[in-house]
Amino acid sequence: MANKIVSLFNIQYPIIQAGMIWCSGWKLASAVSNAGGLGIIGSGSMYPEVLEEHLVKCKNATNKPFAVNLPMLYPNIDQHIELIIKHKVPIVFTSAGNPKTYTALLKSHGITVVHVVSSLKFAKKAEEAGVDALVAEGFEAGGHNGRDETTTLCLIPMVAAEVKIPIIAAGGIATGRGMLAAMILGADGVQIGTRFIASPESSAHDNFKKVVVDASEGDTLLTLKELTPVRLVKNDFFKQLEKAYEECATPEQLTQLLGRGRAKKGMFEGDLVEGELEIGQISGLVKEVKPAGEIVQEIMTEYHQAKNEQNTAKYIF
Ligand code: NDP
Ligand code: NDP
Repeated sequence: MANKIVSLFNIQYPIIQAGMIWCSGWKLASAVSNAGGLGIIGSGSMYPEVLEEHLVKCKNATNKPFAVNLPMLYPNIDQHIELIIKHKVPIVFTSAGNPKTYTALLKSHGITVVHVVSSLKFAKKAEEAGVDALVAEGFEAGGHNGRDETTTLCLIPMVAAEVKIPIIAAGGIATGRGMLAAMILGADGVQIGTRFIASPESSAHDNFKKVVVDASEGDTLLTLKELTPVRLVKNDFFKQLEKAYEECATPEQLTQLLGRGRAKKGMFEGDLVEGELEIGQISGLVKEVKPAGEIVQEIMTEYHQAKNEQNTAKYIF
């Protein structure tokens, strides 16, 4: 019997490229899908006309399945859903909201629905809402994150013990070894974000790609729990937040300091001082920018090597 994620999405490898605002347009999504994984267009940063342009270009660039990530906080979500249906997108990943709201509608159009969760409680709710699979994303992940700080190592086996639908592990995975570890813990596939930012096909600004490859262990931290928890690089903007916390800023003052459009400023326009830079802890392992297709191949080669090592002395005692 084939791997559940490979069968569900009709792809070659259970490697999903995360939908990342400002960083994953049609170029990255089509490159990952062409390499045998599943590419995702991150629609949270796209006005509807921009999303439509990316859908058309993605369909021209690949005849393989691809997906759209739909953050449910997005203000024009109904227009995005209309476009997804109009352009016959086969798979949608919903995040940051209640999976009950749109799952039935999307599924009535033959769309496979996956929901992103950060806890066992939300995983059960998503299963009840009828989604086809889950992304279980741990504390290590970049960008928006859960409040409970549950790590991938703890989250995956807990979800796997109580949920029947296929599980995609996310947060802290960038390599074939990480992928094998997640699958041993109970995942059926992996979602990888940070490593794919460091590719020529990502629409992230080159300055931001350099931040990813230069980052070391300890360079990111989860912050803004009073608003929406988010893991950020400790740049100048992050230090402004730290100072505000020292001065006991209220949530209103934090909202004011955050302002509007900081993610675009940092990740798309390359303002490393004032921008919001969202990457995961695993950035400490990402050392170079390379084509998305090579990243997929490298992960698969390492996965098979690591799997074969399980017969070696290290594992026998
Ligand atoms: P362009 O449309 O300018 O295209 C960039 C390059 O891609 C051009 O050299 C173009 O070649 C080529 N190209 C266009 N279509 C195809 C295709 N179907 N197959 C192969 N190559 C193609 O920019 P983008 O596509 O990168 O972005 C489109 C818009 O979306 C821009 O306004 C951009 O700012 C925005 N964007 C928004 C993002 C977000 O998260 N909000 C993320 C990424 C981009 P040629 O000129 O020869 O056609
Ligand atoms: P802000 O409120 O700071 O800014 C909104 C940004 O989204 C602007 O840069 C704006 O572009 C762009 N945008 C695209 N479409 C629209 C629209 N219809 N109305 C208003 N703005 C739009 O938000 P963030 O940048 O922090 O987040 C943007 C989106 O991404 C949200 O939907 C959020 O839920 C999601 N998100 C998801 C994350 C994840 O990990 N899944 C992480 C962070 C955010 P412009 O500047 O060109 O006007």
